[in-house]
Amino acid sequence: MNDVWHDLLRAEPGAETTARSPLQDLTVMMVDDEPLMTALIETHLEDAGYTRFIGCNDPRDALALARRERPGVVLLDLMMPQMSGFEVLEAMRADEALRYTPVIVLTAATGSEARLRALRLGATDFLSKPVDESELVLRVRNTLAFQQYADRALHHDPVTDLPNDRLFTRAIDAALERMPTAGGLVALVSVELPDGRQLRESFGQRAADELARVVAQRLRRFAEHEACTRDPTLPPLARLDADDYALLLEGLASVDAVEAVAKRLLCVLAAPAALSVHEVVPTAWIGVALAPVDGCDAETLRKSADLAAGHARQHGALSVMFASPELNVRSQQRMTLGAQLRGAAGRGELRLHYQPQVDLVHGGLVGAEALVRWQHPQHGLMAPAEFVPLAEEMGLITGIGEWVLGQACRDTASWSHRGLGDLRIAVNVAKPQFLAGNLCAVLRQALFDAGLPPERLVVELTESMLMDDVAAALALMHELKGLGVTLSIDDFGTGYSSLGYLKRFPLDELKIDRSFVTDLPGGRADEAIARAVVELGHNLGMTVIAEGVETEAQRACLAALGCDTYQGFLFSRPLPAEAFVALLESRAAAGAVCAG
Ligand code: C2E
Ligand code: MG
Ligand code: MG
Repeated sequence: MNDVWHDLLRAEPGAETTARSPLQDLTVMMVDDEPLMTALIETHLEDAGYTRFIGCNDPRDALALARRERPGVVLLDLMMPQMSGFEVLEAMRADEALRYTPVIVLTAATGSEARLRALRLGATDFLSKPVDESELVLRVRNTLAFQQYADRALHHDPVTDLPNDRLFTRAIDAALERMPTAGGLVALVSVELPDGRQLRESFGQRAADELARVVAQRLRRFAEHEACTRDPTLPPLARLDADDYALLLEGLASVDAVEAVAKRLLCVLAAPAALSVHEVVPTAWIGVALAPVDGCDAETLRKSADLAAGHARQHGALSVMFASPELNVRSQQRMTLGAQLRGAAGRGELRLHYQPQVDLVHGGLVGAEALVRWQHPQHGLMAPAEFVPLAEEMGLITGIGEWVLGQACRDTASWSHRGLGDLRIAVNVAKPQFLAGNLCAVLRQALFDAGLPPERLVVELTESMLMDDVAAALALMHELKGLGVTLSIDDFGTGYSSLGYLKRFPLDELKIDRSFVTDLPGGRADEAIARAVVELGHNLGMTVIAEGVETEAQRACLAALGCDTYQGFLFSRPLPAEAFVALLESRAAAGAVCAG
């Protein structure tokens, strides 16, 4: 807290040249019937770096204005014709919301009578008129600093400086209020850390406090990194009791995403902590409650999350439990599935299906997209939507991606050797693969091992992986181009690419997302979008492929728009490797072999 005080006092006269204090962003309100006086004070405060000033020249408006603007301090003139400063002060002290707002009384009256009366009514400090600029700024600063300090003490845990129960409840209320308009889920994560108690019993309070500070630091970093809240003024985390902490999550798209965040938090908290007494590997139990299923108000949500944390405690050293039993069943299933997925490639359970890509001008089969499947021993053939997101969460997607690349390159090379055509093969790359730093090396190795020329490999990227860090993405894309592979942008139109960037990316192909193809022809907006994308792609020197083409009418429309290639159920669904080979063989027999 000492640092807090020191930071607050930075707001000195002429302080705009040094580091700013948070006080300078608080609102200062002045009630004085003389407009000239309010203008003068405003100038003084502005010179001292204060950015929010409200002048009120009619004391009868003061109460309503203060209620709305919640100033950090009110400067109040005593002698005003419409209503005296004493009356304003009295009204403020009787008002629930303004009762504790500091008031500095400005008085020309030298007699102690007026001062005593103002003090009796709850004035915080005095300033004599005419006002000395330096004195004004210092009194405002000190009053605001005391107020902030008291406010902090009231709303924060003294050991960790994390928000306490009071402030956290406000954060939950605000998030719940935003939920209907802001969208996404609101989840309350309750964290129990039993090691604090053990430390307290064996080594005393100081050791327990040390652990609490480590935990607080980890929580803070985590909340910052995960961008848990939409309101920067109300932190989404708290210390609620000696060994109880909480985190508020806002705007997450799915229960799975909430679960993933909770599990990451568990890993972060369970990392070894080097304390003065000895190293501690914290145990943590996490309970998650979701609004509105487990509660529509802060109190009920907290109760639900605490109850879930209690269940987690019974469950084992490091576990996450949901408040609602159905979600726990799902969570267990996902955990089992995740464990099975870990060994799936090694056990030979992954499969590749191939979907043909067809030239829109001459109708020839020119390539295929490799799409992964998991042949699960109990659940049967699983689509990527059922396990790729889980693989990403568990850090398994790079391994799976490498398997896909290797297999796809080998299959494609073997089709050439068998005289079935020199097809190009498109492979989807997941974001973690793109970010892993070794994508180029992995591709080179896969091509080399299979003996496949690089120009036969199409790497499908998505907009979202390119836009996070444009400079890094650009560098990697140039590296990939150097290797000689073709770069395609998948699901184009569903991400948030800026067209300005698109121009700078060394892409070879745009893949129009299925959602724009569905309503062709006739869907006027879709037709306009499809036409624009085709034109855009061609103007930037790219070829354009449409995906999800299901009807002849869609195909004809795309052909008329000048689109180059398509894939979709119309020509063929994705086929198991053997069926795809059979298709190639039948076309080869008919003399329609692709020469690449
Ligand atoms: P995607 O890359 O956009 O693949 C196209 C998806 O659309 C495939 O779904 C395909 O079966 C489906 N599709 C193709 N033609 C039609 C059609 O005419 N109508 C309809 N309704 N759907 C059509 P699938 O195979 O379920 O794959 C879904 C997504 O999973 C892929 O979308 C891709 O993002 C991802 N994925 C697939 N394989 C891999 C992989 O090896 N690695 C990674 N990272 N992601 C993969
Ligand atoms: Mg794709
Ligand atoms: Mg796609």
